[in-house]
Amino acid sequence: MLEQINARSIFSPATGFIARGGFDWTCNPYYGCTFGCIYCYAMFLPQNRRPREDWGRWFTAKANAIDLAQRHGHKVAGKAVYLSSVTDPYLPAERGLRLTRGILEALIPHQPRLVIQTRGPLVVRDLDLLRQFRAVRVNLSIPTDSETVRMAFEPKAPPLEKRWEAAEAVRSAGVAVGLCVTPMLPLLNPDAFVARLTAFAPDVLVTQDFHDSGGGFGADTGTAARRLLTERRWTAEDYRRIVERLRERRTVYEGEAGFFPPRK
Ligand code: SF4
Repeated sequence: MLEQINARSIFSPATGFIARGGFDWTCNPYYGCTFGCIYCYAMFLPQNRRPREDWGRWFTAKANAIDLAQRHGHKVAGKAVYLSSVTDPYLPAERGLRLTRGILEALIPHQPRLVIQTRGPLVVRDLDLLRQFRAVRVNLSIPTDSETVRMAFEPKAPPLEKRWEAAEAVRSAGVAVGLCVTPMLPLLNPDAFVARLTAFAPDVLVTQDFHDSGGGFGADTGTAARRLLTERRWTAEDYRRIVERLRERRTVYEGEAGFFPPRK
């Protein structure tokens, strides 16, 4: 059953690493996230009061998101907006609900500097709107080259090739693309992955090490993922080697340093 609420606001002042990166506001059309990445920090946040084991099984739509964006869009005029910080703006439900699309339409007159952060190829649907922003970047998360690994860590998120196709489409539309290998998950063929990232030449490339926190906050792993990590003997040295190889070829931002708004 679709759960909807009327939210008090649709733009929230940026906090944490998003604020440190230079964003002024965040925008989340949904609570929860049906992509259900098992390392997602959002499941630990106070607004997501459901049991952690239910993460990925629920979402709540902010039914009045578009109305709020129309009424309060002036607050974010010219400011840096991160969409989204604790959900994915292109969940499968967005296809029918069109909340993210409505928010984008409402924002065009106000021209915020916008980063769209997503794993959802559905973002290509809105390229007609995104092209109307003077400063916008679509960050697509592509944390591995292995569908087996993706299935273990991001079981309900879109297949990796669909994300690469979306990245191509975004770039073809003349919109800046960020590729986020965050967190970098075990790789099947590191050489080929480095070559592919380099050849794609995203406007911004971000990497981040995967931390197996053993049950602690963030970047945590479930049993299947933990088994995969052990089998593949994926270590911090593997990560470091890949970053160094990328750095021989292009600029790489690591972690928080990579999450900054598009320049004017
Ligand atoms: S897509 Fe983003 S918000 Fe959704 S579960 Fe994955 S990391 Fe969390």
